[in-house]
Amino acid sequence: RHYNFCAGPAALPTKVLERAREEMLDYHGRGLSVMEMSHRSPEYTAIAERAEQDLRELLAVPDNYKVLFPQGGASMQFAMLPYNLLGAGGTPNFLYTGIWSKKAIAEARHLFGAYVAASSEANRLTAVPRQDEIALTGDAAYLHYTANETIGGLEFDYIPEVRKADGSELPVVCDMSSSILSGPLDVSRFGVLYAGAQKNIGPAGLVVVIVRDDLLDRARPDTPTMFNYKLMAEQGSMVNTPATYSWYLAGLVFDWLKNDVGGLEAMDAINTRKAAKLYAAIDDSELYSNPIAPLNRSRMNVPFVLADERLNQPFLDEADAAGLLNLKGHRSVGGMRASLYNAVPEEGVDALIAFMADFEKRRG
Ligand code: PLP
Repeated sequence: RHYNFCAGPAALPTKVLERAREEMLDYHGRGLSVMEMSHRSPEYTAIAERAEQDLRELLAVPDNYKVLFPQGGASMQFAMLPYNLLGAGGTPNFLYTGIWSKKAIAEARHLFGAYVAASSEANRLTAVPRQDEIALTGDAAYLHYTANETIGGLEFDYIPEVRKADGSELPVVCDMSSSILSGPLDVSRFGVLYAGAQKNIGPAGLVVVIVRDDLLDRARPDTPTMFNYKLMAEQGSMVNTPATYSWYLAGLVFDWLKNDVGGLEAMDAINTRKAAKLYAAIDDSELYSNPIAPLNRSRMNVPFVLADERLNQPFLDEADAAGLLNLKGHRSVGGMRASLYNAVPEEGVDALIAFMADFEKRRG
């Protein structure tokens, strides 16, 4: 297999795919594939429950949080969140740090309104707003932010903490699509956490939502059935037929993280090393550069540009031929982007760095 630096759908661990292949036709002697199982069968129920249990263990999810496995991608959460959290009115407040937070803001605004409480616009999306720059509306219902902007390569170095004017706690809602499971996390700091699966979890379409119990009673009365977190929680994310196979694959990834990698602290150390060496290689070169403030450089998505744009296509062609896939930056920003999610092994990053140095020597 080649090294896949795609931003999403992203690389999956080879071991996970091998296990899925082994179990594909005949799951544990049952004579059928997981894809063909009833979601209500005892076999499938065990798969689903194990996946949730392993995720809870990995992230040390406190007991007063529900873990949901809805469908529709992270983008559907942009709408589900305001429906579920605005039952008592108020305005969702947002931190604007890049393209994904912008989309979340646009959807909330389109539905029930939105307010930008702090923004990275003034520094051209190269650093996140600091805690003391966050200025909420008096009627703020929650604060939403994007932990890691996948396209810009901008990552929060802290978890915002916000209070209402009367001093009471305001829920923090976080899009963690491109950084969840990259390291340990204090779930108790959040009201709702969500992530599209196709980076560090599994196949696209599936979503993981982790929501604090007391927020399940805040849904607007017009919330569509399939959007309703409380119903989902009550029915084990099986209000309708869930994305059974994707959920199973997510479970294999959780198992891999626990038993092959050794948990999120071990994953964290590997991810820190991978990103540090790639950024160092970029900073040490004359050809490559990355504009993000060092404190907010993403560990998962490393965008970089070449000093001479005419070298972009040769860079991509030669990288592809060397088995280094999907390095092209997002169409809205151009340049390159190497996504270093959990499943990209350290040897893949070493190979990329060696290729970049060689390319610069020959063409730079
Ligand atoms: N949020 C972030 C940070 C993302 O990176 C993405 C997708 O890449 C999304 C949301 C949207 O995810 P989906 O395509 O699953 O709707």
